[in-house]
Amino acid sequence: MTDTITRQIVHIDEELCTGCGLCVSPCAEGAIVMENGKAKVVREELCDGAGFCLGVCPTGALTLETRETVPFDHEAAAPIMAEKLKTYIPQSCYICGTDEDSAPLLPVRTKGNSTWVCTRCLPQLIHG
Ligand code: SF4
Repeated sequence: MTDTITRQIVHIDEELCTGCGLCVSPCAEGAIVMENGKAKVVREELCDGAGFCLGVCPTGALTLETRETVPFDHEAAAPIMAEKLKTYIPQSCYICGTDEDSAPLLPVRTKGNSTWVCTRCLPQLIHG
């Protein structure tokens, strides 16, 4: 039996989840799956708690919590990440079009949409 630790992990509020599925692809480790029309973290050892899924959820169903669970399993996640890369659709900044190879992208919510902004355009979003 794997020892548990206290760490950060994604929490999904089933009441708020509409089952849109937008959070599945930002999760590089494949921790989030759709089950019976709801997003679920079915294997907690695959959730690293980084929270990249949070920004894309249109309903605020995703949050981070700190609680006791199994440690993140790098070895279990590696083959899933490699498989997901084969079908990965690269994202780009909604303001300037910069792709994620040229600058880091961050998820943002704007005008009711979930999208991505590069670190070069982020200051203008913050400061206007
Ligand atoms: S993005 Fe939010 S509402 Fe959509 S499936 Fe994921 S948790 Fe549910």
